[in-house]
Amino acid sequence: MWKNMGLTGKIIVAMILGIIVGLLINYLSLNAEGSFINTYVTNGFFAIVGKLFVNSLKMLVVPLVLISLICGVCGIGDIRLLGRIGGKTFFIYMITTALAITTAIGIGSMFGIGKGMQIATKAVFEAESAPPLIDVFSNIVPSNPISAMANGDMLSIIFFAMLIGISILMVGKPAKGLVQSLELINEVILKMVTIIMNLAPYGVFALLAKAMSELGFDLIWSLLGYVAVLVGALIFHFFVTMMVILKLTSGLSVTTFLAKMRDVQIFAFSTSSSNATIPISLRTVTERMGVNNSVASFTIPFGATINMDGTAIMQGTATIFIANLYGVDLGIAGYLTVILMSVLASIGTAGVPGVGLIMLSMVFAQVGLPIEGIGLILGVDRILDMLRTAVNVGGDAAVTVIVAKMENEMDVAVYNDPNAGAETMFDDHIDADSERELSAVFSDNLLGSEYNEIKQSS
Ligand code: ASP
Repeated sequence: MWKNMGLTGKIIVAMILGIIVGLLINYLSLNAEGSFINTYVTNGFFAIVGKLFVNSLKMLVVPLVLISLICGVCGIGDIRLLGRIGGKTFFIYMITTALAITTAIGIGSMFGIGKGMQIATKAVFEAESAPPLIDVFSNIVPSNPISAMANGDMLSIIFFAMLIGISILMVGKPAKGLVQSLELINEVILKMVTIIMNLAPYGVFALLAKAMSELGFDLIWSLLGYVAVLVGALIFHFFVTMMVILKLTSGLSVTTFLAKMRDVQIFAFSTSSSNATIPISLRTVTERMGVNNSVASFTIPFGATINMDGTAIMQGTATIFIANLYGVDLGIAGYLTVILMSVLASIGTAGVPGVGLIMLSMVFAQVGLPIEGIGLILGVDRILDMLRTAVNVGGDAAVTVIVAKMENEMDVAVYNDPNAGAETMFDDHIDADSERELSAVFSDNLLGSEYNEIKQSS
């Protein structure tokens, strides 16, 4: 049965199984420090398989973003259009993030979460410093593109890729061969994504089983108000606010969007990283939703870095919660500062697990809330990070579709076809004929024939 199941089906089954196994381990208290299960299963087998999977996704992010964005810029062919798409995308990303945090503050205030609560916690939050905003902007231009790539500095990589693309366009016709080669390299990287995607069921299972086995349920109960408001705001923002915006601005079907986003959101949920999800997001919006690669290769990595609606919602909710808990009245000016700071904070921080809390410390410092307060919500952040990352990547894809539709850079027939791209995206078979043809290229060339001669004479 497993063999005949489609990849999406397998991923969903793996997700459910992972959650069940993890919760069972948790419920039966098998994950105690030093126990066999803890050492060899959750921190052994599950940890290794999960890490291998996340690493293999991350491995592809930088080459994919670099090459597909160069191809994207060349594909657009018009530098002014590029500027317009960039401006629009940035504007919509900022507006939706501001809406997200406002929703969270609104719902949080309505329920008065944290008022009159007493919580004792041993968790201490060590505030790591978020990058100063000035550095974020000045580092958009990398002094060393290789180190930017090595560090995965997305904004620098985007800048460098766009500059290469624009320069290729300026060279014009003589660069045709180069563009064709880059397109081919892009194809090859997309095939690598396919291979990794086919391993997803195992990775997703291991990541979720590990995460669930480590969940602290007592903590969730004691922080129920915070967790419930946060989850409610995440659901409201993605399913109501974003979908209304998608419908009103593009006229496209919301149910089609949600159905096609399922895989992407499972990847985001299990890896807790918008960055690691970039390869899947990019392929989904282009191959399954018909967005032109010229738009998506820019908007998706850009969104993974600067657009974090789910994270903004966490920050809004956490601010209300901690302010109420410590009896601090932030007032309208305080809330406006929170909104502004969260939007700005989201610009510079990459989509990796747990970064939201670092950004939160920046927001707290600005409005004078105690940073130690973050220690209170630390224990439940792992699972909430998974949920908010799914909302983060959902926002990136929705805005990508909106901008592409506005700019007429999408194939609506592909978007509306429920099966579009489903097969090609997951197809990892090797065609025997093309394999033979390619190996013939090798044996025909100089190195190949010399090699064969040496081999025969030895
Ligand atoms: N994990 C989130 C992401 O990758 C960021 C965060 O909120 O911690 O989008």
